[in-house]
Amino acid sequence: MLDHLLKQKSGPFTEDLVQEPGNFGLGKIPSRLAPASTVTSICGYCATGCQLKLHLDESGQAINLSPQANYPVNLGMACPKGWQALDPLDATDRGTTPLLRDPATGKRRAVDWATAVDTFVNKFNGVQKKHGRDSAAFLSTGQIPFEEMAFLGLLWKSGMGFLHGDANTRQCMATAVTAYKQSFGFDAPPYTYADFEESDVIILSGSNLCIAHPILWQRIMRNKRSPEIIVIDPRATETAQAATQHVPLKPKGDLALYYAIAHCIIRDGRTDAGAIAKTEGFAEFASFTKDYTPHSVAERTGLTAETIEKLARTVSEPGKRVSWWWTMGINQSHEGVRAAQAMINLALITGNIGKPGTGANSITGQCNAMGSRLFSNTTSLVGGHDFAIDEHRQKVATGLDIPLEHIPSEPSLAYDEILHAAEQGKIKALWIVATNPFHSWIDSGRLAALRDKLEFLVVQDMYHSTESAEVADLYLPAAGWGEKSGCLINSERRLATIKPVRKAPGQTLTDFRIFRLLANAWGCGELFKDWTDPESAFCLLRDLTKDRPCDITGIESYDHLDQAGGIQWPFPKNGDSQSPSSTPANERRLFESGQFYTKSGKANLLFSRPDELPEAPDKSYPFLLLTGRGTSSQWHTQSRTSKSDILQKLYPAEAYVEIHPRDAKRLGILNNQPITLSSRRGEMKASAYLAPTVQPGQLFLPMHYPEVNRLTHPSFDPHSRQPNYKAAAVKISL
Ligand code: SF4
Repeated sequence: MLDHLLKQKSGPFTEDLVQEPGNFGLGKIPSRLAPASTVTSICGYCATGCQLKLHLDESGQAINLSPQANYPVNLGMACPKGWQALDPLDATDRGTTPLLRDPATGKRRAVDWATAVDTFVNKFNGVQKKHGRDSAAFLSTGQIPFEEMAFLGLLWKSGMGFLHGDANTRQCMATAVTAYKQSFGFDAPPYTYADFEESDVIILSGSNLCIAHPILWQRIMRNKRSPEIIVIDPRATETAQAATQHVPLKPKGDLALYYAIAHCIIRDGRTDAGAIAKTEGFAEFASFTKDYTPHSVAERTGLTAETIEKLARTVSEPGKRVSWWWTMGINQSHEGVRAAQAMINLALITGNIGKPGTGANSITGQCNAMGSRLFSNTTSLVGGHDFAIDEHRQKVATGLDIPLEHIPSEPSLAYDEILHAAEQGKIKALWIVATNPFHSWIDSGRLAALRDKLEFLVVQDMYHSTESAEVADLYLPAAGWGEKSGCLINSERRLATIKPVRKAPGQTLTDFRIFRLLANAWGCGELFKDWTDPESAFCLLRDLTKDRPCDITGIESYDHLDQAGGIQWPFPKNGDSQSPSSTPANERRLFESGQFYTKSGKANLLFSRPDELPEAPDKSYPFLLLTGRGTSSQWHTQSRTSKSDILQKLYPAEAYVEIHPRDAKRLGILNNQPITLSSRRGEMKASAYLAPTVQPGQLFLPMHYPEVNRLTHPSFDPHSRQPNYKAAAVKISL
């Protein structure tokens, strides 16, 4: 069948199927790697971006690894996931061939790539012809190199002519993206990791850094300035217990708290006049915060007025370097954008931005969330551009040699809107790439019902056994980290490379090669004739960034990135003291000049009144459920980390729920007793773990177990459309 396709639509990619048996995903191992006994690669889990040193045998296959000693991010350290990064490649449930569901039997059967590609093209083509460009969508990831993300986004929109696609970074970083864009004029996390070591006051808000980003916690431990470490979190997390100060506010009391802190600082004249001159909206913000006295927010935050007054003094101490850091406790909220901007406002009005040890700093989740933000062609037009700006569309069209009319002028529906459209029968077909929404999406029970409405579901993943792959009509086996090359961008905007160090199993292909095959079969291969391999794609994408805040035109090649120890954006060609061949400074932060990316060059102070919890506890569902990372040894839905025996030993196999001992006593619950948790949407079993880490009336479930999202409440931040995973009303039954 593929022969037929290839004859009909001869294009540049016929060589994709002509590879050595057993080496389908890897392609040829670069000869420059062959004689080496080690090669470096960035870890493919979290956005810390640690560099690992892979130890190779004579055939270039990795046999072991160790953390890279002199890399400016991890400085010789790695967390358990990094140390065991090779384990998931050997799993027995790796896909080795495409699988197609037989409608008659409902069972999946192995098919060759020709049949898989033929089916993919026929199904999506049929849906498009019948229902138009809005009738299908892709859902992708922050876990693959950005060259692959860009290829997918451009293939889907400019090649295949569809409009909607989003990434699971919506679950992770959309709030920070929107907050930065609105406040700074561009999605620009301002910091560098050295700021952890140079702060006098470090505020971690909704961040369990000790286990979510353990290497970054180690960076704090290297701080020689004896910093005050303040953790603002309802739960006494591992990080809160290790901090100098834990502020146990009520869930989602953060926005009112930050406005009250701003109230105190402005009232007491502890602002920085020079810094305020570089902002817009200070008078309005000062007037707004007048109502937020510490006493007025005491009930909402669960904190005393004295605690708030003290916090306000600590974060505005003259001469002190104060840095604000946040992760999912802020991002995954019904009002996360305003909460993030409330911290941005505090950093701005106290002059804590653009200097060592300062900043309003979002720490990213996935290894390539920043790559997705700049290059996935979902929310933003590829290369940090805007679909709505004609000049940007023209620049991308010219730079990539794509007809202008093939670049949409409107953005995609967001993730939740795509799924809602599928529920309504408007979206008929979905293509899921390297993500597992049937486990990870909020209120996941809705996905099962939605599945029946879809005419066609494709899942492209390393494993055929994820909750999402199991229900797909077509499964495409993809190579994973360690089996391909490309670039990742970490939380501090550092680009660095990953390398192929293992042969992918069976007929597995890299995502990049799958996109090439599909482009050719669809008949749009000519548009991507220059996308011959990831590094060629990198060069095209790099050149597109010219004159954008994320300009990386000074990066010559993958080798340049490797030799420089990764490079933080921006890195323009012939930029200030940055010739293309120079080694950039290892640590660079933004806004040192006081200029922001807005039209006026000033940062915007943005704010609005806090909303009520979308689903507060009541008589029927009296507990508030918090969710979050449970361990540094597991990653998200455990698709990969569950394949490592060592990582599995570091974490309970079955779900557990943290409950305050007082609540447990009242309900007659013993430690380790099985209990049932239910919300208005579903239920699950878990064993009780009695711990004063949660406050009375609250429960905590680690997110890694597939049942957890049966309970979560489908509410979303109105600005970012990020799901609110952290607050749902539940009850306990025995
Ligand atoms: Fe580093 Fe994150 Fe990988 Fe752990 S998972 S080694 S912290 S990049």
